[in-house]
Amino acid sequence: MSSKSLPKFKLRGLILVLAVFSVLITLGNSFYATYEVQRSLLINNTLEANRVYAAKLAEVTDVFLDMAQDRLAYSAEMLSDQMHSEAGLVAEVRRLQEPTNTFNSVVVVNDKARVLAVSPEALGLSGETLHSRQARLSIAARAPVITDPFISAAGNYLISLSHPIFAANGEYLGYIAGSIYLQQKNILNDILGKHYYQDGSYLYVVDRNKTLIYHPNPERIGQRIEHNPAIDEVIAGNEGAYRVTNSQGVAMLAGFAPVTNAGWGVVAQRPNTMTLAGLDGHIIKVFLKSLPLVLLTLLGIWLSALLISRPLWQLASGTRQIDNTPLNNAQINNRTTQDNISHINSWYFEAAQLKRAIIKSMGLLNDKISQLHSDSHTDAMTELLNRRAMTQVLDSYQQAHTPFSVITLDIDLFKRINDTYGHDVGDEVIKKLAQLMRLQARKEDQLCRSGGEEFMIFLPNTSQDTAVRVAERLRELIAATDIPTVGTITVSLGVGHWSGADSATSINDTLKLADQALYQAKQQGRNQTVAL
Ligand code: GH3
Ligand code: MG
Ligand code: MG
Repeated sequence: MSSKSLPKFKLRGLILVLAVFSVLITLGNSFYATYEVQRSLLINNTLEANRVYAAKLAEVTDVFLDMAQDRLAYSAEMLSDQMHSEAGLVAEVRRLQEPTNTFNSVVVVNDKARVLAVSPEALGLSGETLHSRQARLSIAARAPVITDPFISAAGNYLISLSHPIFAANGEYLGYIAGSIYLQQKNILNDILGKHYYQDGSYLYVVDRNKTLIYHPNPERIGQRIEHNPAIDEVIAGNEGAYRVTNSQGVAMLAGFAPVTNAGWGVVAQRPNTMTLAGLDGHIIKVFLKSLPLVLLTLLGIWLSALLISRPLWQLASGTRQIDNTPLNNAQINNRTTQDNISHINSWYFEAAQLKRAIIKSMGLLNDKISQLHSDSHTDAMTELLNRRAMTQVLDSYQQAHTPFSVITLDIDLFKRINDTYGHDVGDEVIKKLAQLMRLQARKEDQLCRSGGEEFMIFLPNTSQDTAVRVAERLRELIAATDIPTVGTITVSLGVGHWSGADSATSINDTLKLADQALYQAKQQGRNQTVAL
């Protein structure tokens, strides 16, 4: 596979991407979870706070109504024998209305609904007969009454608390009533309004008909609220908290509690957005706080990715060298690659295993290459060098300017051996001859089968005289050696010499000269050595 078609992804990058991806997912998830938990905590806390707040104010309102009823009861008692004393009545209604803010107005009405006394007098009701349904109800009830909101004879939108007046003998004389003007400054404003938050929360009160009797926006007073589950619940006398949408379509967190004395309901609510306003900033703070650790983690991951991928990367780039090695240098390069790879610190199992496998297979490869190399350089029959190897030997002498002598050798009348004993016996003779040559040769001598029954011996750093002596010795050894079937054979030899870089003749000419010497030896009768 060429390196161009290799995939571009690297293990380090893949580990990094995977790890960073996981970190980001985990982080995102934990931020999301934190956000959601905080959000529901805020919402629940607000709902609970609003419920408690509504309950508290419902209780305060209850206490107020009790107290107001008590005051009216006390006055009713006082007035039971003064219904005919205008001065006494006026004094009492003033006492009840003026110094406190409990009631916006106070009236005493007889059993025919005629106003006997009123405070403030400016209302001009004194002597008038009240025709409102609420006045009739108060008379008919002959008991304490808290009316629904209505528009009074003097034109005020109000609710009225009344208490019956009985004579000592139990005769019903009329009632005393205190009113709360819903659209003006009143006691409810004092009780409820002072608790008004600045954080977007607000509070309102509905009567039993879901009509607003208190609201921070005075224009809303008197409106009926429909389709609000919190109101339905609170009117039913239940306390609790709901997520609701107000009349403006704003999502609210509402807590509610009933005012049991009057059948009213108090609702405290806060917009969701106000409640959650700080949450984003909070999450950003959490993010910024965790950022150093996140960066540290990413750095750790990056270093780990480096550490983990390093042995594999080194193994990969080590083996890549093999890829790029020309075949004739394969063995040498494989050795360096093998050496490089053996120095890689493969600190975990897979890398170590891979390294072992690579080194082992490269060893096998080298053995194989060595085998091929020697196969391509040796003659199979004699295991002497072949012509290709001979060329390389001569090249190395040429490069290193190594002087050498050469002996060329040819078996005498070999055709006859073949003809007489057959080709196989001929082969055996050739092998035997190779054996004898090896026996004679020094370690540095190079033995070569240059043709069928022709041989060359290269003797580096050897003079021609010495080479002649070597040739003679070999010739004598051969002539004296008994070969099975054939008996003895003789050989003819030629000797040449190349004196190195300053030689007048080239190596090629030297070889030709040695050939000529051999030819001359044949001419002169064979079984002899000639040097020219
Ligand atoms: P001369 O003394 O002049 O060298 O006579 P010769 O008969 O040896 O003549 P030449 O060298 O020309 O003959 C070589 C013969 O060697 C020819 C060929 O049949 C034979 N021969 C070459 N290679 C082999 C081989 O591998 N095995 C066998 N058995 N014979 C071979
Ligand atoms: Mg020959
Ligand atoms: Mg021959």
